[in-house]
Amino acid sequence: MQSPTAADVLIIGAGLSGLVAAAEATAAGKKVLVLDQEAEQNLGGQAFWSFGGIFLVNSPEQRRLGIRDGFDLAWHDWLATAGFDRAEDAWPRRWAEAYVQWAATEKRGWLRERGVRFFPVVGWAERGGAGASGPGNSVPRFHVTWGTGPGVVAPFIHQARAAEAKGLLTFAFRHRVNELVLTNGAVTGVRGEVLVASSAPRGQSSSREKAADFELSAGAVIVTAGGIGGNHEMVRKNWPARLGTAPKNMISGVPAHVDGRMLGITEAAGGQLINSDRMWHYTEGVQNWDPIWPMHGIRILPGPSSLWFDARGRRLPGPLYPGFDTLGTLAHIQTTGYDYTWFILTQKIIEKEFALSGSEQNPDLTNKSIFQTLGRVRGGGTPPLRAFLEKGIDFVVKDNLPDLVRGMNALTPEPLLDLAAIQAEIENRDRQLTNPFGKDEQLTAVRGARKYLGDRLIRTAKPHALLDPANGPLIAVRLNIITRKTLGGLLTDLQGRVLGADGQPIAGLYAAGEVAGFGGGGMHGYRALEGTFLGGCIFSGRAAGRAAAGVS
Ligand SMILES: Cc1cc2nc3c(=O)[nH]c(=O)nc-3n(C[C@H](O)[C@H](O)[C@H](O)COP(=O)(O)OP(=O)(O)OC[C@H]3O[C@@H](n4cnc5c(N)ncnc54)[C@H](O)[C@@H]3O)c2cc1C
Repeated sequence: MQSPTAADVLIIGAGLSGLVAAAEATAAGKKVLVLDQEAEQNLGGQAFWSFGGIFLVNSPEQRRLGIRDGFDLAWHDWLATAGFDRAEDAWPRRWAEAYVQWAATEKRGWLRERGVRFFPVVGWAERGGAGASGPGNSVPRFHVTWGTGPGVVAPFIHQARAAEAKGLLTFAFRHRVNELVLTNGAVTGVRGEVLVASSAPRGQSSSREKAADFELSAGAVIVTAGGIGGNHEMVRKNWPARLGTAPKNMISGVPAHVDGRMLGITEAAGGQLINSDRMWHYTEGVQNWDPIWPMHGIRILPGPSSLWFDARGRRLPGPLYPGFDTLGTLAHIQTTGYDYTWFILTQKIIEKEFALSGSEQNPDLTNKSIFQTLGRVRGGGTPPLRAFLEKGIDFVVKDNLPDLVRGMNALTPEPLLDLAAIQAEIENRDRQLTNPFGKDEQLTAVRGARKYLGDRLIRTAKPHALLDPANGPLIAVRLNIITRKTLGGLLTDLQGRVLGADGQPIAGLYAAGEVAGFGGGGMHGYRALEGTFLGGCIFSGRAAGRAAAGVS
């Protein structure tokens, strides 16, 4: 494969942030070169696989469902969730404020102009539960894109292809960058290797065998190479003590190309890396029975009703209910001495409350099929969910509790679960259904959730006795820790310029997307409100693309 010639702007990474940066730079008339270590069939990176959940504030979709939201509430939620507490949080905090402003004003219209549309029911992710001053979303803000992840990337791929046709943009796939070239302190190009051609389908690991070396020069270089979630060694190395010891067993929520290599490569060129210990991994991962990438896990986006037990069968303490506090739950799990937990639920709950994250797990929304999507209201679960119930190795489905617990014990190296203890816990919970109020905090939360129309319609089952056979077979799901997002990253100013150890921009060097902590080296701080990553890639990619093209 022949390497292309020099460009005004060279972009490393053809994921969402790289594509958005390319769209902005070509719109400004610049000649752009986009390199990616993967083959063309991977165009779009992680965003293609994503659920397409987008954080919006005070949207028409929210208002139609009776949700009152605004910048002030969202910004308070963001600050309480991020918990910025470090000197180096100055730029991340500025990014966060600019981002929440954007989400409350221009974002939806800007995306709509590009053809992006949203599913009318807004999801309520990261509900918090630790009080009004604690982390979490006070109101639902998770807007699922009509067309999921592919629907988010499509407009930017379209723009890139149009620029390519005009001769303004060139893609160079299978080009893996190993080094940034510095000339008198400015980044002036990249060096790397051309990898052998690959026909591996999208998302699968491809060969790292080298075919040739390359060196390219450019007026500006934008790093948009993604995070570290596919590199478990790096995840463990950066694991923070506040989340306990790093899990021995994890599954991967991202493809292998999310390898974190460009972080070290950019550091070697003088870029400052901050908040490497801040990550966003989920606790509700199930092993994919039909894996695409290594250790492929799927994250369940759970509604609030499943009962959550640790590996020894103890119910997790409040407010660690499904979908409430991702990292609070992760930290708790890491104190139990085991890397997995259990949901126990009924057929009625799974049908209404389990969403599986990922474009391929939601063919109804991904294919924009109104008829299939209506199936969510009709009930019965989506076909991918039914496939997991039948074939997923983390699922146990039985007609009665003794068989269920026996099945759960059979899935683990030691039979740690005691039937009598679990039975007492569930019976005590079921007893609290006699009145429409009671002392079980999780049930109170479930009842509260159902006051929100969107939850009542498609996300929160009517409270019912788990042990009543009329509510369908009992289901247990073994939940694994699943890697996903990198919250820290390259320190950048609001133009996406990478800053060095002295806090000054490194001439010619920009970064955006997950590699830049979605802006500033970590605009989420310690935790996320969800649906903020795709938007963070778009917002930071746009800023870096404009700045690298000299647009103010
Ligand atoms: C299953 C799934 C569901 C998700 N759901 C949501 C959601 O609902 N809402 C949300 O906000 N976010 C979601 N996300 C997260 C979001 O998709 C990602 O954070 C985002 O797409 C990252 O985009 P990026 O451009 O920064 O990086 P990436 O998409 O990782 O792209 C980086 C590209 O750089 C290339 N690259 C890396 N190193 C080199 C190198 N040295 N040389 C050349 N090329 C290189 C890679 O091959 C890759 O193509 C989800 C992610 C997944 C995987």
